[in-house]
Amino acid sequence: MSGEAESAGLALADVFAEDGPLANALAAYRPRAGQFELAAAIDECLGSGTDLVAEAATGTGKTLAYLVPVLLRGERTIISTGTLNLQDQLYARDLPLALRALGLERKVALLKGRSNYLCLHRLDKHGNDPEVAEGAVGEELQMVRRWARHTVSGEISELDDIPTRSPVWPLVTSTQDNCLGGECEQLADCHLLRARRQAQEADIVVVNHHLLFADMALKQTGFGEVLPGAGAVVIDEAHQVPETAMRFFSRGVSAWQLRELGADTLRAAGQASGALKLLMAPVQNLRTALDQAVSECLTLPQRGEFSALTACLPHFASLRRALQALVAALEPLAEQSRDLGNAAQRAAVLEEGLGDFLAGREGYVRWFANRRGRFALNLTPLDVAGPLRQLRERVPATWIMTSATLAVAGRFDHFTRRLGLDDARERVIESPFDYPEQTRLWLPEGLPDPGSRDHVDQLLSQVLPVLRAAGGRAFLLFTSHRALRRAADWLRAHSDFQLLVQEDAPRPVLLRRFRESPGSLLLGAASFWEGVDVPGRELSVVVIDKLPFAAPDDPVLEATLKAVRESGGNPFAEVQLPQAVLALKQGAGRLIRQADDFGVLVLGDPRLVTRPYGKLFLRSLPPMTPVQSGAEAARFIKDRLST
Ligand code: SF4
Repeated sequence: MSGEAESAGLALADVFAEDGPLANALAAYRPRAGQFELAAAIDECLGSGTDLVAEAATGTGKTLAYLVPVLLRGERTIISTGTLNLQDQLYARDLPLALRALGLERKVALLKGRSNYLCLHRLDKHGNDPEVAEGAVGEELQMVRRWARHTVSGEISELDDIPTRSPVWPLVTSTQDNCLGGECEQLADCHLLRARRQAQEADIVVVNHHLLFADMALKQTGFGEVLPGAGAVVIDEAHQVPETAMRFFSRGVSAWQLRELGADTLRAAGQASGALKLLMAPVQNLRTALDQAVSECLTLPQRGEFSALTACLPHFASLRRALQALVAALEPLAEQSRDLGNAAQRAAVLEEGLGDFLAGREGYVRWFANRRGRFALNLTPLDVAGPLRQLRERVPATWIMTSATLAVAGRFDHFTRRLGLDDARERVIESPFDYPEQTRLWLPEGLPDPGSRDHVDQLLSQVLPVLRAAGGRAFLLFTSHRALRRAADWLRAHSDFQLLVQEDAPRPVLLRRFRESPGSLLLGAASFWEGVDVPGRELSVVVIDKLPFAAPDDPVLEATLKAVRESGGNPFAEVQLPQAVLALKQGAGRLIRQADDFGVLVLGDPRLVTRPYGKLFLRSLPPMTPVQSGAEAARFIKDRLST
């Protein structure tokens, strides 16, 4: 019997058994009840076509729990992860391992967003432009040209000598705006198109959330459907889906897009006879109107609601008129060349986006982001359940959503309601870790209100003995950059610890230094609360300053709360509280990453005991053993570190 045939006859329980194929393939494999429970639930849902929402605690082994039933069933499946790193890991490590263990062969493809692939059309365009080639990015452009001659995948991550933020990348990758799609003369060699073709032919396609949602729009760009015929869609890190969906279903226009449009229009006009004469003035008028709008926006805050734009509105109206004039000037020229056709299409889309933003739309919040006048005007839907239902209808598959943090005290309503998952089955898989034995939870007493000036100082003065007992090895997670800076100042004044502070270096650099120097403390804000994995005794203490309620000045959140209030709901209970509970679970989840980890979690927010909702947070955390004092917490760490 072939390996494939043998596997086809394998029962799920056999695969996860102590002497099963996973045990044979993985030296460290141990059967875990939770892993099998999740795999069985997924298998059942795949079989019956029922959607599933499952929280699987850290340590469950959820990747194999969904890969095994998916591979055994053999249906075409899309697997979506939260980040590029996780995508690479799944594609290069977990999937080959599972296939090998099961003795199966499946066509597997990795598909990333378009900005990850070299665009040959743009490379040609900019590579031959002396202004760019001799400018600041000239050297990097040469590197890209040399690499372009031999790359097979065209994935720009291959060229890791060039920083990901280098200004050369936007010049040699495409956006939905500037891609020529079916009109492109490089279509036959296009890396992006090749990757999409491979994805269309594959049994298993590994994508990320943004790309998954972007597929809806891709259907309108001439590339055709990328994710057709999937029998199942597995979404890992599903807690990120509501935010990603909200971002994706947003519309709008930015100063950067308008500037690019002007530059690309003139470049296209220069290559078509007579076009430059007709387009020079409208582009110049657009640039003048844009400059005026940008200078008016200089004094705006970094983010805000539409109502804060009163002074800018006349400038946006002029900008729209200039854009309309450009649309009108481009229209009769669109047939002259592919680039002009593309510019005409983009100008029309941006004009519509600006028009929608200025007019407003029922059910959408209008807000702006601003960086030194470079504005982005956004129209974001408050309800993503509707568009997501449409997405699910277009990919009529079984949807499996899983994450380590989805449930609030065992319930999923906040998540399923937001995503319109009305009939999904729900499952919570408990952690295999022995939290009561491996962890201690300490809530320091007598701390002032978390909004008060000296909250951080008082918290740190209580926590310092625990940090000393651990000899560093701690993450200090803050809900604001202000608190983070204050904590760094306090610790510099009161201790000799090596401090690794979020604002001083990129996240991977800080994490590397943290792992390499066990005596250090890492101080982080938002980006360290999730997706950070430091197993082992290098991380033995996690301190969280406050309950992570989202900033009330976020215009989208504000509008969401208002909408819930106006429809008779309770915005705090339905939105703010569940979001904060999940964020706290994420932050606390940094502490225990494997079965032999141990550590202390310190929560410095007195509201955990003074407010009724505090219990909900505590009930949502893993079952850690509470301690009454810092001395007890310090003793625990010292004892564990000495063994
Ligand atoms: S089809 Fe689009 S991405 Fe591909 S080479 Fe052409 S412009 Fe670039």
